[in-house]
Amino acid sequence: MRTITKKPEILAPAGTLEKLKTAIIYGADAVYIGGNQFGLRSRAGNFTYDEMREGVDFSKQHNAKVYVAANMVAHEGDVDGAGEFFRTLKEIGIHAVIVSDPALIEICATEAPGLPIHLSTQASATNYETLNFWHSEGLERVVLAREVSMEEIKEIRQKTDVEIEAFIHGAMCISYSGRCTLSNHMSNRDANRGGCSQSCRWKYGLFEVPQPGERLSFLAGEPEEDFSMSAVDMSMIRHIPDLVENGVDSLKIEGRMKSIHYVSTVANVYRQAIDAYCNDPDRYEFKQEWEDELWKVAQRELAVGFYYGTPTEDEQLFGERRKIPAYSFIGQVLEYDEETRIATIQQRNAFAVGDEIEFYGPGFSHLDQTIEYLWDEEGSPINRAPNAMMIVKMKVNAPVKPYDMMRKIK
Ligand code: SF4
Repeated sequence: MRTITKKPEILAPAGTLEKLKTAIIYGADAVYIGGNQFGLRSRAGNFTYDEMREGVDFSKQHNAKVYVAANMVAHEGDVDGAGEFFRTLKEIGIHAVIVSDPALIEICATEAPGLPIHLSTQASATNYETLNFWHSEGLERVVLAREVSMEEIKEIRQKTDVEIEAFIHGAMCISYSGRCTLSNHMSNRDANRGGCSQSCRWKYGLFEVPQPGERLSFLAGEPEEDFSMSAVDMSMIRHIPDLVENGVDSLKIEGRMKSIHYVSTVANVYRQAIDAYCNDPDRYEFKQEWEDELWKVAQRELAVGFYYGTPTEDEQLFGERRKIPAYSFIGQVLEYDEETRIATIQQRNAFAVGDEIEFYGPGFSHLDQTIEYLWDEEGSPINRAPNAMMIVKMKVNAPVKPYDMMRKIK
């Protein structure tokens, strides 16, 4: 029986320590986080050095890795303090940094030798010569531009030894990734220095400036029917064999701003698919339940980006969202008592007795049930759990465990 010995890494986003732990528990081999400087997510929960230390300790206990994104486009003065930043990351035990600006690459290589550097997707690497160039500069890995096709990946893999990382799931830019200034113009927030305000997803009307005496003429969108320039999201769940067979080393999930509901669900699904393929590629079959699971958290329609051809207008969202998730995240299991079959839950969104719910956990475990009994932290019966982060106890029909999540059918 053929097996794949070089299984690609699943690389998940982690905007907080909680998301880092969740992603790893749910099957991520590595996570990428941001520090307080030099990253692209000025509004995402960025990590302090102490949080990084805790995250690295946790990752080591689970045989996982932590990368730090420092992939801003640096203007004059932006690199001040970068040497100390990279030296501290190395001392903490961060496994690699993700960088795009050559100034930051140089500072990292000089000030923190031995700390592996990955070229960020912000650098738009789309051909093997570019990858070979960065490899010769000492970089260990290149994150490909989202605009690279599967055929190009195949050729790149054949002609370079550098590690390849490719996006497999998450939001897409309508502009060429890393080369957008829409947000800069619309909201004075620099997309390439961590401030993207997602201006492409705003609602617009497109009209011709009228000649004197003419009425305003809308070319696309009407005052009551605005349109956006948003791309649909990417999902490569149906194409895991192509990614593995073409030698992609790391499969990246987008979304450091996303919730633990999203991160746990997406990592869980891809863990199943990648393990299934690598363990027995010749008898591998895609399972519809994987895609159905992704739809429980999907925010937009899903497509394959640029992997199998240039996206058409069908892969753009000009109007309203065409899919709304049917589930909402309501809680996380903190403890489970086997004798009483009572779980202690931390509430994340309101729920009540009578709600139809689903528990899910690492390893793709699922349990459906109706909420019949609820108690507050002191043990008094309650009908609802309305308060954010409140602790409640609940009778469950089968064993659950810490880190299991609870969602409600809307
Ligand atoms: S405005 Fe849209 S296309 Fe531009 S960087 Fe932000 S998300 Fe990407």
